[in-house]
Amino acid sequence: THFGFRTVERESKQGLVRNVFDNVARKYDLMNDVMSAGMHRLWKDEMIRVLRPQPGMKLIDVAGGTGDIAFRFLEAARKFPGNVENPADVTVCDINDNMLTVGRDRAIDRGILDHIDWVCGNAETLPLPDQCMDAYTIAFGIRNVTNIDQALREAYRVLKPGGHFLCLEFSQVDLPVLEKLYDVYSFELIPRFGQWITGDKDSYQYLVESIRRFPSQEKFKSMIAEAGFRQVTYRNMTGGVVALHSGWRI
Ligand code: SAM
Repeated sequence: THFGFRTVERESKQGLVRNVFDNVARKYDLMNDVMSAGMHRLWKDEMIRVLRPQPGMKLIDVAGGTGDIAFRFLEAARKFPGNVENPADVTVCDINDNMLTVGRDRAIDRGILDHIDWVCGNAETLPLPDQCMDAYTIAFGIRNVTNIDQALREAYRVLKPGGHFLCLEFSQVDLPVLEKLYDVYSFELIPRFGQWITGDKDSYQYLVESIRRFPSQEKFKSMIAEAGFRQVTYRNMTGGVVALHSGWRI
């Protein structure tokens, strides 16, 4: 065991993940800001920049939680130069109803009532027909999915030919200096922040563990290609703390 690292059996993963996000949903957005020192906002902005939202575009944001990606997407599409009332649409799909409820409340607060659907569903069995979406995004969600290959095949299935797949996820740090700091930060401090803010240390310990178990950038790239995507690339952000993977359904 590394820094008191607990192991979690694969069988219980789905139930556990549900529990984790049930426990933290209300404090989720605050925790993101605290744990990443606000950086998750920049990582998400970068994903949206690469996605290039356009009028009329249809996006599914899987593991969309409290709507961060969806709101950014609609806003960017609305501001697209020359856009005169050709709205984009987004479907937010998440396995956890509590997260979706927080998202819906945030949407109401922001006056965003149209062009956004909130759907409870599993990334492994998306409740959508084949080839109905122009783009698929998943931010900090895929590492929680039990069968990642199955989720990637589902992403491929729901995308139209020409559709864009983008995945933002914690990844493997590629700077030795940063690595040490990151170890202490994630194994020592994150569970403690989790305890202080949400009263739930275990959930955050689980999140840290799930990050360490996630495949490397190169391995994940080959998994995406295996699901059928072409021109698969990735870029590291913040020294590999986060990676953005991209692929296309041709
Ligand atoms: N995308 C949001 C963001 O970046 O702020 C939320 C990320 S949050 C760390 C992970 C989300 O994945 C949670 O809302 C959780 O309920 C959802 N999730 C976990 N397993 C899932 C699955 N199999 N299918 C769909 N969503 C899932």
